[in-house]
Amino acid sequence: MNLVLLGPPGAGKGTQAKKLLDEFAIPQISTGDILRDAVRRGTPLGKKAGPLMAAGKLVPDDVVVDLAIERLRQPDCGRGFVLDGFPRTIPQAEALDVALGKAGKKLDGVISLQVPEETLVERISGRRCCPKEGSAYHVYQKPPRRTGQCDLCGSELIQREDDKPDKVRERLAVYAAQTAPLEAYYAKRGLLRGISGVGTPEGIYAEIKKSLDWS
Ligand code: AMP
Repeated sequence: MNLVLLGPPGAGKGTQAKKLLDEFAIPQISTGDILRDAVRRGTPLGKKAGPLMAAGKLVPDDVVVDLAIERLRQPDCGRGFVLDGFPRTIPQAEALDVALGKAGKKLDGVISLQVPEETLVERISGRRCCPKEGSAYHVYQKPPRRTGQCDLCGSELIQREDDKPDKVRERLAVYAAQTAPLEAYYAKRGLLRGISGVGTPEGIYAEIKKSLDWS
């Protein structure tokens, strides 16, 4: 099953992608995670992407497309994949269609998680992560065992630069301008499933499976 998860930052794409991964053993492909890893390792890609990410802006299409397509070629994507955070622009979606077509594959569904803006801002401002492990926490919804410390390695948790309030506003504006048009793009192809992203992660997951006739 080849899926795309669409939704603004804080909509819960990562959480739902992990649930799909756990149940169906198909990899979650997060371009955001791949880029953050490159930034942490200080690679040329990381040096290019880091300042754009910190400012809440998109990394150029050609860079992200190469990265995503390369990842999709890996053998673990043979049984399917869940794309989380890619595509984010119409040119990225078109490039994805071309690459999948060449590989004799196609998308089976695009889940669009819908969440009101106030809820998104509330969710994102409470996010914390471990600078070493990359593991994610939330001050209210998923607090670490010891306040401010990673459960796995004890490092002091940080707030992602792009989760700070002014950057969040920028990311939401970028989403509205550049990514929201993908809903119409996929609706035209009969692939779009709009799902409310408000509620418990389990309840939202059940709705996703229902929309794909998997429940
Ligand atoms: P995310 O973790 O998906 O919210 O991504 C974090 C940041 O990585 C975004 O704000 C962008 O700067 C960059 N990024 C991730 N995926 C893409 C993409 N498909 N296109 C452009 N930039 C991306």
